[in-house]
Amino acid sequence: MRVELLTVGDELLLGDTINGNAAWLGRRLAEHGVEVTRSVVVGDEMDVIVAAVRSALERADAVITTGGLGPTYDDVTRDALAEAAGVVLVRDPALELRLHERAEAAGRELQPMAFRMAEVPKGAGLLRNSAGTAPGLRVELDGGIVYALPGVPFEMRTIMDEVVLPELAGIAGLPAVARRTLRTAGIWESVVATRLAEVEAMDGVKLAYLPDPAEVKIRITVAGADPEGRLAEVDKRVRELLGPVVYGVEDETLDRVVHRLLAERSATVAVAESLTGGLIGAELTAMPGSSATYAGGMVTYATELKHRLLGVSDVLLAEHGAVHPDVAAAMAEGVRDRLGATYGLAVTGVAGPEPQDGTPVGTVYIGVTGPGNTRTVVRPKLPVPGTGPEIRAVLRRMTVVHALELLRR
Ligand code: ATP
Ligand code: MG
Repeated sequence: MRVELLTVGDELLLGDTINGNAAWLGRRLAEHGVEVTRSVVVGDEMDVIVAAVRSALERADAVITTGGLGPTYDDVTRDALAEAAGVVLVRDPALELRLHERAEAAGRELQPMAFRMAEVPKGAGLLRNSAGTAPGLRVELDGGIVYALPGVPFEMRTIMDEVVLPELAGIAGLPAVARRTLRTAGIWESVVATRLAEVEAMDGVKLAYLPDPAEVKIRITVAGADPEGRLAEVDKRVRELLGPVVYGVEDETLDRVVHRLLAERSATVAVAESLTGGLIGAELTAMPGSSATYAGGMVTYATELKHRLLGVSDVLLAEHGAVHPDVAAAMAEGVRDRLGATYGLAVTGVAGPEPQDGTPVGTVYIGVTGPGNTRTVVRPKLPVPGTGPEIRAVLRRMTVVHALELLRR
């Protein structure tokens, strides 16, 4: 079963709206083992939509469209589908009644335009919309089926889950697949891929790498007989090959893992931040319940504050400047002691785009101090992603990930 996506809307072409519908549909269909073979975006223009639908059905068995089902005259998907099917639009009495009822309930008068929402291409099926007014449409053409869904993401998703996916599964007798995403931090994508070469060569196994700054997500798909059982084996092998860099599964982000590990030990962490300006604290307070494990933080951006608030030796700072492994270590100890936490975590470094006092961009030191002892780990220079102004954001994000990763270990 081959499916193509056709997302409709001038706002998508102009970049005013990010095409979240296509992203969600792609993921959802893949989860159900339906192959999306092409995704096309067009504006609110009747002829273009007609041509795109016809062309898609030359290749695929079904097309899913989103957008352009509303009442306004720039919503032309239903007109385009009637044209493509060579039928007229007819008014559906049940839909019309529903419009009247809703208008009455809201104490409003129906505009003539609103009746467009009660029109459907003759012979089309209606896809129940339990989340809104306008139903989706099922139009059968010579080359295959078109499912037309509203543009509003919540309504689109509801109709998809409640109506379209079960229907597609019935038509296609979909093959069983099992999927899982493993999350890694602090390892390069190319290293991950090299180590996993043997897994990639396994029959029926597909790996996809989804990189973020300092993180790589590995999406494993297993098809064929007993996919769940084989997925468990593949998962085990991947972890053997990659070792402890695998920190989580699915949407278990690094901050959640850190929170869980700290909570298990009834421990807390205090953070001293320089180049990240509070991003680590933001990350560690993102989830509800974080107060159980996050004591607090100090953003000591100025060098002098590292001495005055954290007690980093002024001799050390004068001699080496603020970007030095010993400074990171002293910051971690200082913040742990001052805020009375179990662990201290500290970062200092150069986020760029210009070097600082001769220290190159991407030099980042991270101190982690545990309970009792003063084990301090430092993270030397990060790989600098290019030279543009965006390196600052990327380096700061990388620093957050490496810091949480060091704390996790
Ligand atoms: P309705 O029937 O509710 O009027 P519609 O089918 O006419 O919906 P549109 O008018 O095209 O849909 O879009 C409605 C809203 O949904 C807009 O706010 C738009 O930004 C959003 N939207 C439309 N298409 C997409 C898309 N592909 N991804 C994310 N959001 C979208
Ligand atoms: Mg629109």
